[in-house]
Amino acid sequence: MATSVGKVFLVGAGPGDPGLLTVKGARLLAAADVVVYDYLANARLLSHCPNAQKIYVGKMAASHSMTQEQINGVLVEQGLAGKNVVRLKGGDPFIFGRGGEECLALHDAGVPFEVVPGITAAIAGPAYAGIPVTHRDFNSSFSFITGHEKEEDYKEPDAKARGAATGSSDLDWASIAKLPCMAFYMGVKSLPRICAKLIEHGMNPSTPAATIRWATRPNQQTVTATVATLPDAVVAANLKSPAITIIGRVVSLRESMNWFETRPLFGQTIVVTRTRQQASDLSTQLEDLGARVIEAPTIETTLPADLGPVDAALKRADAFDWIIFTSAAGVSATKARLMATGSDVRVFGEAKIAVIGNATADAVRDQLGLRVDLCPQSFVAEALAEELVKLGAAGKRYLLLRADIARPLLRERLQEANAAEVLDVPVYETRPAAALPPELLEALAAKEVTAITFTSSSTAKNLASLLGPTYREQLAGLQVISIGPITSQTLIDLGLPPTIEAKTFNVEGIVNAMVR
Ligand code: SAH
Repeated sequence: MATSVGKVFLVGAGPGDPGLLTVKGARLLAAADVVVYDYLANARLLSHCPNAQKIYVGKMAASHSMTQEQINGVLVEQGLAGKNVVRLKGGDPFIFGRGGEECLALHDAGVPFEVVPGITAAIAGPAYAGIPVTHRDFNSSFSFITGHEKEEDYKEPDAKARGAATGSSDLDWASIAKLPCMAFYMGVKSLPRICAKLIEHGMNPSTPAATIRWATRPNQQTVTATVATLPDAVVAANLKSPAITIIGRVVSLRESMNWFETRPLFGQTIVVTRTRQQASDLSTQLEDLGARVIEAPTIETTLPADLGPVDAALKRADAFDWIIFTSAAGVSATKARLMATGSDVRVFGEAKIAVIGNATADAVRDQLGLRVDLCPQSFVAEALAEELVKLGAAGKRYLLLRADIARPLLRERLQEANAAEVLDVPVYETRPAAALPPELLEALAAKEVTAITFTSSSTAKNLASLLGPTYREQLAGLQVISIGPITSQTLIDLGLPPTIEAKTFNVEGIVNAMVR
């Protein structure tokens, strides 16, 4: 039986900030069998499609890893094989993105396609550099122009009439020089020629101009000058591709509108060491403040090898006076186990719930739909033990649903206070990650990292062992940020004394300490 033909969606990935993907793009990625992407599409967008087959088709100016014909061939082949394909393209698929050629190839092969526009570099770049591309006081039109060296790729029929077909350019410079505001794509190398042509054809040499590299990403760089001085300024700042150049009087507004590059953590590269599940919360907050974040999960959590004790404890959970969660991971693991055994939160009966930390409290509310009865101000086991003992522990029964590596302190304090029963059950196990992400190792080697956060003693120990014996040298000079006194002590023992310790032992505390 012949497979029915699939469909190819050309999806604009936006300029780099992963938040600038459209809702429709995200939905299609999540549903895709195959995702074909290139170098301008932020690889982080692939987190929308963890299960899809990913095909990297490259394309850096010099090192094309696949020709356009080969890329067309991949799309046709996957479509004909019945696959649901997303072709993820940087910016907008049709703005200098060769999306038109891909659609024509699909059409010729009888493969259906759809197009989802994306935010193009000439819109997003200036916006993130604090430059409005139109303003009633300055310009009423805005043009997208390619500064590509190989103008043959873009030969227009009219260019022949201008005698450009045999020359080096088919751009109508006499007309372009009269435009009030324009963006040049792919124009870093040819910037001296572009600016010279504009001035030669009558543009005022003092017209404000800006070049923006890696726009909307945490490593965005912007150079502002005039159309006469921009080429030298770009060389002086060592700006390379990919960059977009904006020429027009609106560029002068950046002085008062530069919102992105002035955020408190802009320019910082921060490593976040947590478990894979926990990391994103902190990362998102740091990114919102302008930092580039590299996540380094040093711990992986898994279900315990023996689920017997968990199931037995949950079965008689209503026999306890207090159920205690000390991490969001413990809450998730408990929920997963209840669901897997066809049970639900009614097993907890009238038991009260105590937690350590706001994130754990949120998890209890959001994942279990239960109210938290006790969450001490200070997010350490000592504080919870003290409060529980104050409430009277004698004769009480406690069920601790925790990690296999949890400290015994809480159990011991409750036992010393004559609890009738303290059942400490590991609901999840932790083990060190197998390796660190290559992005982290590269950034450390290139000395790009400015700070590293530690949210537990075990992440600190694991990171040191994953980096190997030279971990101290590799982390030398970085700001070491600790979530609290216990993690700080471990860091001191490791020879990595913290530069900052958070006032509140949570993500917010870390963020506040860093901003200070
Ligand atoms: N389809 C893309 C453009 C592809 S052509 C879009 O709509 O944005 C490649 C050129 O786009 C680069 O040479 C550069 O000029 C520009 N570009 C793409 N992403 C960029 C970014 N994040 N920052 C600056 N320029 C970018």
